[in-house]
Amino acid sequence: MVQTVKNVEFNSSSPAEIMEATYKAIENFQIRAFFEAKEDILKHGKFSEEEFYEILDAMIDAETERKIVLNRLIGQEPLFLEEIAALIQNFPPENVIRDVIYLKEQGYVDELVEVKTHTEIKKIKGEEKEVEVKEYFYRYQAKTLPEDFKEHFFEPVSIVYESGACCNCGCCSSICPLDAITVTADTLEIDEKTCIKCGLCFSTCPRSFSIEQVYNAIKKLDKKLKFSEKMGGYIETYTASTKVEEIKKVRQDGGIVTTLLQYLLENDLVDAIIAVRHSKEPWKPEPVIVTEVKDLYKTAGTKYANSPSLTIIDKAREYPRIAVVGVPCMMKAIYKASLFLNGFSFLKNIKYTIGLFCMESFSYENTKKLIKEKFEKDINELTKMNIDKGKFIINLKSGEELAVPLKEVQSYARDTCHYCEDLTSDYADISVGSIGSQAGFSSVVIRSEAALKVFKGAIKAGLIEAKNLAEVKPGQFLVEKIASTKRTKCKPVQLAPSK
Ligand SMILES: Cc1cc2nc3c(=O)[nH]c(=O)nc-3n(C[C@H](O)[C@H](O)[C@H](O)COP(=O)(O)OP(=O)(O)OC[C@H]3O[C@@H](n4cnc5c(N)ncnc54)[C@H](O)[C@@H]3O)c2cc1C
Repeated sequence: MVQTVKNVEFNSSSPAEIMEATYKAIENFQIRAFFEAKEDILKHGKFSEEEFYEILDAMIDAETERKIVLNRLIGQEPLFLEEIAALIQNFPPENVIRDVIYLKEQGYVDELVEVKTHTEIKKIKGEEKEVEVKEYFYRYQAKTLPEDFKEHFFEPVSIVYESGACCNCGCCSSICPLDAITVTADTLEIDEKTCIKCGLCFSTCPRSFSIEQVYNAIKKLDKKLKFSEKMGGYIETYTASTKVEEIKKVRQDGGIVTTLLQYLLENDLVDAIIAVRHSKEPWKPEPVIVTEVKDLYKTAGTKYANSPSLTIIDKAREYPRIAVVGVPCMMKAIYKASLFLNGFSFLKNIKYTIGLFCMESFSYENTKKLIKEKFEKDINELTKMNIDKGKFIINLKSGEELAVPLKEVQSYARDTCHYCEDLTSDYADISVGSIGSQAGFSSVVIRSEAALKVFKGAIKAGLIEAKNLAEVKPGQFLVEKIASTKRTKCKPVQLAPSK
């Protein structure tokens, strides 16, 4: 289930403190921009008046809470996020943690990073070697602000796009109250005349500011979770395969994603699913809302071209309970939106997120080019594409299978994927990939109690066979190894200066 940071009562703060915090909160630029555009927003018709006030109330509550957190931080020495959460007990710890990071982005809080180095003995290519390991420690402290301090405002996400870091997930376009943002698989455009500069798009963008420290601190607080520096918080890991014959014909690996989605629909746990099917152009993904199992089968299988799937989360708002399938950047966008923008009804409707492992994706044009240049084939001849054991593999309608080393196709991948540190969709409820499992099986990382219930339910219903990932080779060792490589290679995002 998507972690929605709790809306809270302010009953443990004094009336004077709440009043002062609320007074300061309504000065916030996001709240002002959103409120001042009320007429335009209602005229546009995306939100009813009731929805408008629900979003506004949530924004004011979150900002008021932040101002109280800031007030309590003033005068404290630098502290770890966990220490701050223990110190400020007015609100649930996950709220305090997310607030500190947002306050940092607003310019109120400093992040102080300490690097400690130690040596460890590691086995490298069978040989034991002494290697230097760096550990990073993040502490936070309220800044001493000058008289003329102005709270930072968030630029529209064109700043991310212009920096080359936009992953085209499309979450910003769903969030925008005036639909001023158009996202396709390759482009992002903002209608400057319509944009109200509320910066809500920036708050949810997976590439705008980092929430890695929020994620780590929140997951480490949850004692039911194991925590891996390489693949995030999880309860259990499995290797699994579908038992549904129809799914075996269309699946990518173990068919686990499609089978779990079928289980969710058949057991009335969700009303709709956001997945990806082939568009009119084969292998060009098209995001789709699915409500019936027969349509679900058309979504199975991996399309290696990226899909702007989150452009349709607002279109699925009529369904009270939905599941979303996507790659890691999409999972992060949903998690970030649920942390910072909890007034949006269509975000609250997201009950389950299924994240795919993803090293990188390709633009559709480059996918076609890759097939032509590396295999001398036309994309229409393909029945499957796959990445396995360091090879890019294609299957053809003729029954032929061809492969080239993965290294040879890497130049076709999207540059923006190099800004992503996440292989295993750490921010999802369930993550599924092929790395670690044998052919016909998927590696499955269960990250929440609700997800575990669904997975076990699907096993009990005879839809899935599963073993612990530890029982197979290469198993979790390889998942963590490749996940660690992705973390190490990840480039930091440098946002373009505002014009
Ligand atoms: C771009 C991309 C790169 C990947 N890279 C890796 C990798 O490096 N290592 C690894 O182990 N696994 C990777 N995967 C995941 C892997 O290919 C399988 O999707 C995963 O193992 C699930 O297999 P399955 O048989 O359970 O899924 P299925 O039951 O076949 O279902 C696949 C699901 O994926 C969704 N989907 C397909 N294409 C896309 C897309 N472009 N964007 C969003 N959703 C999509 C479909 O809607 C469907 O719901 C990648 C997936 C994608 C989309």
